[in-house]
Amino acid sequence: KVERSVMAERRKIGIMGGTFDPIHNGHLLAADEAHAALGLSEVIFVPTGQPPHKGKQHVTSAEDRYIMAELATVNCPYFSVSRVEIDRAGKSYTIDTLRTLRAMPEYEGVLFYFITGLDAVLDIVSWKNPEEIMQLCRFVAVSRYGYTHKRMEELPQDLRERIIPLEIPLLAISSTELRERIKTGRSIKFMVPTAVERFIRKKSLYIN
Ligand code: ATP
Ligand code: MG
Repeated sequence: KVERSVMAERRKIGIMGGTFDPIHNGHLLAADEAHAALGLSEVIFVPTGQPPHKGKQHVTSAEDRYIMAELATVNCPYFSVSRVEIDRAGKSYTIDTLRTLRAMPEYEGVLFYFITGLDAVLDIVSWKNPEEIMQLCRFVAVSRYGYTHKRMEELPQDLRERIIPLEIPLLAISSTELRERIKTGRSIKFMVPTAVERFIRKKSLYIN
């Protein structure tokens, strides 16, 4: 009985990993929806240091992506940004990040929920140590334009069982599309927070 009441009190924290090149309203909406639906106490955004799956593609400096993530989340009391991946040398693997967070005293006993879009979750078999990842956290798979939750059937059952599907309003925004819009001089005004757009302009990011 005692055990049950202790269990009920376990703090739930969301982790939102991404390259965030740049961070946009789709990321923020996904995190906020997961926060509300799962009763998370907070969501930690973790910008990737070196994305392992974006091989030759040019990626904006980790520091600029980190600043944009801070600018985007500063007005939300339950959002924060972690430097854990950008301060770690080498490629960023989620398994290492989860182990690091797990070992931090302030997160003792916490239940972690790793928030991803459906596109990313379908990819999970290609991540490093997916089974161990699944033991360190639960996954939340939020709707993403062009994907349906039915596609989760493609995943091996043992992984699928650990994934919570979450229907959220579709925002058909991607960082790829934003970079393309900036390059071609189109507006991104209502797709990213104002402070992020200002920072992009100030640093002349994504113009070529
Ligand atoms: P890129 O086009 O460069 O891949 P992206 O928009 O997919 O950028 P990422 O940094 O790759 O952004 O994504 C981080 C996480 O956020 C992933 O789990 C991704 O599925 C999710 N995500 C990105 N955009 C959205 C969106 N519009 N709605 C819901 N989830 C999203
Ligand atoms: Mg992506």
